[in-house]
Amino acid sequence: MYEIAVIGAGPAGASAALFAAKAGKKTLLIDNDKGMTRRGWFENFYGISEVGGPELVETGHKQAVKFGAELVSEQAINLTSSGNGFVIETEDGIIYEAKHVILATGALTDLAAKAGVETKDGTEPRIKTVVAVDAEGKTNIAGIWAAGTVAGVSVHAIITAGDGAKVAINVISELNGARYVDHDVLKA
Ligand SMILES: Cc1cc2nc3c(=O)[nH]c(=O)nc-3n(C[C@H](O)[C@H](O)[C@H](O)COP(=O)(O)OP(=O)(O)OC[C@H]3O[C@@H](n4cnc5c(N)ncnc54)[C@H](O)[C@@H]3O)c2cc1C
Repeated sequence: MYEIAVIGAGPAGASAALFAAKAGKKTLLIDNDKGMTRRGWFENFYGISEVGGPELVETGHKQAVKFGAELVSEQAINLTSSGNGFVIETEDGIIYEAKHVILATGALTDLAAKAGVETKDGTEPRIKTVVAVDAEGKTNIAGIWAAGTVAGVSVHAIITAGDGAKVAINVISELNGARYVDHDVLKA
């Protein structure tokens, strides 16, 4: 069983998976490569002068995988509760089990709604429906979290990436039973 499964590997999901895997959590990252980020050109991402969407997404995937996240190219079609976690079923009939699930599905709330996760009207342009989350990223179902566009944050890559990191840190902290901080120090 995975400790953390992230569904969606745009900036929100890949950033969440990066933090989860770097914290030593057994992490699954599921993506069907239909996100909005690949279509963008970014000149407002702090620390990066300019970057195309495909490069931004692919670099994020490499970072998550470098720290041990297992990235699979699948479409998640069902998310259900099991004894002590969740079962994720993909279009190809593959079953994954995870203790915690982070939904980072961008503009799509269909999987969340099917799983019984509460949704609400979105406030961002062109984002009609989002998952209802609290300040930590928790949904109405304990163990299911949401981050990024699907969680209703401002539709900008740096914000969705930051929200993915925030939610992952909250999940890691809950698993550890103590607040988690990931700081590396400049090598001398
Ligand atoms: C044309 C365009 C230009 C933009 N320009 C800018 C810009 O200049 N600056 C800026 O800051 N922002 C820009 N944005 C917005 C920015 O791309 C988004 O705010 C942000 O990157 C969204 O990240 P996300 O991770 O929330 O969603 P996404 O990047 O959409 O990622 C969601 C991921 O979830 C996957 N997914 C969804 N459902 C499933 C499922 N059931 N199973 C498996 N995978 C699933 C999708 O395939 C996708 O990879 C632009 C957007 C567009 C469309």
